[in-house]
Amino acid sequence: MVGKYATETLRADNGGIERAAQILRGGGLVAVPTETVYGLAARADDDEAVARIYAAKGRPSFNPLIVHVASLSAAERLAVFSEAARALARQYWPGPLTLVLSRQRGAGLAAAVTAGLDTVALRMPSHPAMRDLLEFTGLPLAAPSANRSGFVSPTSAAHVLGALDGRIDAVIDGGPSEAGIESTIVAVGEDGSRRVLRPGPILLEDIARPDAGGRIEAPGQLASHYSPGKPVRLDATEVAPDDFVIGFGAMEGDCTLSEAGDLAEAAARLYACFHQGAISDKPRIAVAPIPEEGIGIAINDRLRRAATPPD
Ligand code: AMP
Ligand code: MG
Repeated sequence: MVGKYATETLRADNGGIERAAQILRGGGLVAVPTETVYGLAARADDDEAVARIYAAKGRPSFNPLIVHVASLSAAERLAVFSEAARALARQYWPGPLTLVLSRQRGAGLAAAVTAGLDTVALRMPSHPAMRDLLEFTGLPLAAPSANRSGFVSPTSAAHVLGALDGRIDAVIDGGPSEAGIESTIVAVGEDGSRRVLRPGPILLEDIARPDAGGRIEAPGQLASHYSPGKPVRLDATEVAPDDFVIGFGAMEGDCTLSEAGDLAEAAARLYACFHQGAISDKPRIAVAPIPEEGIGIAINDRLRRAATPPD
């Protein structure tokens, strides 16, 4: 045990979900597998529980959290849905799409969840463990990625424990995350206008991409983020012996995202390769070129942030 908690590892079965629900009802923290990455969940209606998320992650308090819900009707109690927002929810929920909407008055969310904004980010996840927890607790659950702030998101229970063992109550081990990359975030105005704040697994080709250098509306848009803690070089076609190479397609690496050049497989393996690169004894990471198409857009978005040194 590293910190003040004896972090429990729970199975993604009925017993594990019941124990996790008990911890969450009592205001504790549980890392939960989702179809994107592992999330660090707390009840979203309790100030102290939400404060524990920020403390465990070392997350700046201006960076709001995504609230996870069991159903569209639960979401509509928390936010104002225009027809455009409802159409997106009906099409993509449950799944890796987060909607940023105007907060409903009297929604009962802890103030820290939205970091004082009058909007709220909502998602209905598809992963059975997270869905069971939402149904079991009957609570909206705030859940950012279960990593230390600024570092690489976890796609396995081992990644979560590497960063947060002793700082959280429990982790549910549900195996590797399927999509492997954080949800697509779309802001939907009450007038039905739609903007992508963060690219992700849901490809909304018809919606404008985030404007580079624009106002920071989602802190996931901070230039430096997802850092593996050492220099990262992108679009590498030549590599040095002291590079930890993240390969793709014909370019084989110390960790290869997808030998077949499959972008969905590459997204699913991206953070596992980052974690391997971070703990390897090589001082630098070099990444093969990734095509800027489909989910490759979200992969390149995360790679660019990983390659940008922190301030
Ligand atoms: P994480 O779950 O760690 O990927 O972080 C959640 C992401 O959702 C961050 O990039 C937040 O900035 C974004 N987010 C949460 N709430 C809002 C909101 N009300 N407006 C814009 N972005 C949000
Ligand atoms: Mg995160």
